[in-house]
Formats: sequence, structure tokens, C-alpha cells
Amino acid sequence: MSDALSRHAARAVPRYTSYPTAPHFQPGFPADTWREWLARTPPEEPVSLYLHVPYCRQMCWYCGCNMKLAAREAPVAAYAETLRAEIALAADALPEGLAVSHLHWGGGTPTALSPEDLSRCMARIASRFDVRHGAELAIESDPRTLSAEMIGMIGALGFTRASFGVQEFDPKVQAAINRIQPPGMVRRAVDGLRAAGVAAINFDLIYGLPHQTVRTLLETIAIACDMRPDRIALFGYAHVPWMAKNQRMIEADSLPGPAERAEQAARAAEALVAAGYVPIGLDHFALPEDSLAVAAREGRLRRNFQGYTTDQAETLIGLGATAISRTRFGYAQNIAETNAWARAVRAGVLPVAKGRALTEEDRLRAHVIERIMCDGAVDLDEAAARFGAAPGWWDRAAIEDLAADGLLTLSGARLALTPAGRPLCRVVAAAFDAYLPRSEARHSVAV
Ligand code: SF4
Repeated sequence: MSDALSRHAARAVPRYTSYPTAPHFQPGFPADTWREWLARTPPEEPVSLYLHVPYCRQMCWYCGCNMKLAAREAPVAAYAETLRAEIALAADALPEGLAVSHLHWGGGTPTALSPEDLSRCMARIASRFDVRHGAELAIESDPRTLSAEMIGMIGALGFTRASFGVQEFDPKVQAAINRIQPPGMVRRAVDGLRAAGVAAINFDLIYGLPHQTVRTLLETIAIACDMRPDRIALFGYAHVPWMAKNQRMIEADSLPGPAERAEQAARAAEALVAAGYVPIGLDHFALPEDSLAVAAREGRLRRNFQGYTTDQAETLIGLGATAISRTRFGYAQNIAETNAWARAVRAGVLPVAKGRALTEEDRLRAHVIERIMCDGAVDLDEAAARFGAAPGWWDRAAIEDLAADGLLTLSGARLALTPAGRPLCRVVAAAFDAYLPRSEARHSVAV
């Protein structure tokens, strides 16, 4: 990697799962404004639902999520009951009987719920929304705690996709991240879900973990590919112990340095491509027949809070503590603290804490950033025309600097990432982020 590319790879930039990014949502966002946005959802348009379960049975040291340890069953059951109440609260605020095209359970670990509670929540959704035949129903899970009963319930409820955090199979790395799950355990979960009728399986892998090497990562990829997941997401471990206190359990000197991280990312990508996976966007790989690969081929790839998606719905309703929603008018984020979230729901108040109304300029920048992250290319004049901006709205000098450093090519107003610039798409996207220069948020490094 050249010096210029290495310098960019070490830059701390957002992952752009939204624009503006979550640190720029405004606290004290009025629930009435959120209610008004929900009421203005076009009744004929399908929406997406995201349901967040912050509980996990064990804590992984690398985790950067907002999670809670589920030491007892009662708080988890109480959470599920409140979630059912929030589903009703949101449905009351929305036009009646909206179609749902995508539904995603994320966490935390959604399968920390009991099978009965998962079923009751899905029944509540079915009673208030029109979950379309062919809708994507996805759930994140944890092979260490996935019971046979839960596998049966996931199949019976018609889930179409399940995802696992596999991360790395090397025992020393697993010990250092406090996530012990041998290959046989993951295989049993995958085989069980497939036998129960779940058609698609996603794996998450991580590079840059403590004690991880190119060798351990390539061995992990060989084992993972043998199970033939439909999609693999390959993330770089973000060591941010000032934000995630559990990461203080990871010795900083056991982490691979920047050059080793870059080598791991590059060699892992090569191995996944050699195994028949199509690279998608920043960090995803999919079998050629998977819907994500098809969407990427057809220019329909989107990016939302879960990463890359085929979901085309303009409205995403997030339910549960910390969940983020997106509408054509702006973003809203639920209260993060579960007790405060539950109190608001029980009082019949939409439990929103933060939000951000979108300006026309936000929409233009959001579109450009999303296309860079998804397609690696965008026509800046076309984007300007689409959002009513003047041509030349962008900072040409900054973009030409990135071109000189080898990250992109610029032909007129058409920007395209180079092969070397593709892994650095976050850096290029950041050049269109009007909030970043004055941001105090700390982000992870680009590679
Ligand atoms: S990485 Fe996943 S399973 Fe582990 S603590 Fe975080 S949310 Fe829970």
C-alpha cells in the first residue's frame, strides 16, 4: 500500500449506515414530531420493521453494541412484553394495515427471548401489519445459546434468513475475545436452521482481533465457506475502549498493527472471492445467486443501519431500546436505557430520544454517500439535478486530492473508486459529509 493510501486507511471515519450519522441526531427530539412523521407515511408503500433486543447471555470482549447481560429470565420477558406494546403504539400512529416487505430482528441477541415471546411478538406484528408473502424475515442469533426449541420456532414462524457472529475459529483468538464456539457448534446451528426451513444463512467474520493472524483468518474462512453461508460480512475490529468498556479486557498489544490489519483484510477478501463469493460494497460477500449479489448487479443495493441490504422501503420503523427509524422526513432514535424506554412505552408515549429532520442538502449528500458506499461510483451532476442543487456543489479540490492519492477517478462530474480506493470508500464518502469537519464523535479507522 502506498504512503498516501496508508495515511487514508488510518483515518477515523464513520461507517455511513446513515447520513447524517447518529452522533448528529439531536437530543430531546419531540415525540409529537415523530408521531406526525409516522402519520404521513404513504399508506400504499411497504415499510420495513427493525426490532431490537439488547440482551445477550454472555459478553464478548470485542463487542461495541449497546447490550445488556441477561442473567435472569424475568427482565428479558418484561422487555418482550414492552416490545409488544411498542409495536401496537407505532401501529396506532401509522396508517392502518401497512404492508411489511422486510423485517429484521437484531441485537444484542434476539434469540435471548424465549421461543414463546418471539412468537407472541410476531403475532402482534401480524395483527397490526400486512406481512407480505415473500417478505424477508431475518433474525440474528448466537450459536452458543441457540436451543433446538428456538430453531423449531424460527422455522415455524417462517423466517427466511438467520445470521451468526462467527468472527474467528482459532481457539486462542476465541479465548481472547471471550467467545468460545468451535466449528461443530456453528455447524449444528446452521444445519438445524436449514432443516427447519430457513433458506438463507449469513455469517459475520472479523479481522484485526487479538492474536489473529492471516493464517488463523484464512483457516477460519476455509471452515466457514465449507458451511456455504449465503452471505459473509467481513468487518474490521474497531478498538474503541473509551466507548466500549468491555474492550478494556483486550490487551492493546495483542492487536495486529495497521499493516497486518490491511494484509488480513486483503487476503481474506481474496480467499472469499476464490471460494466463489461476490464482493459487495465495503465489507460484504455473497454467493452469486443471493439476493444481495443480484441487487448489487442490478444497481439496487441499499445501505441502512444493518449494513448492506436489498430493502427498498423508504420507511424503516425501529422498535426497541436504541432502535433507529428512518422516514423520508428524517431519523428518530429510541431511548437507549431500557427502563426509561419501557416507562415511556407503558405511558403510551412514543419512546423517541433523538432525531434529525432532513434538509434537501442532507438528502443530496445522503444519496451521494450511499451510492459511493454501494456502487463505488456516482455522477455528481446527476445527483445535483435530482435534488435541485446547482452543479459544482461539491468540493472539487478535496475530491481531486483523493484522485491524486489514487482512491478514485474523476471524469467530468463522474466519480468512480479505483480498486485500491474500494476498501477506502468510507474515506471518499467522508469528503461529502458536511457535518464531519465539526464533529466531536470518535470513529474507527477506515481499514
Ligand atoms: S458481540 Fe453480539 S453476542 Fe457478543 S456481546 Fe455483543 S451483541 Fe452480544
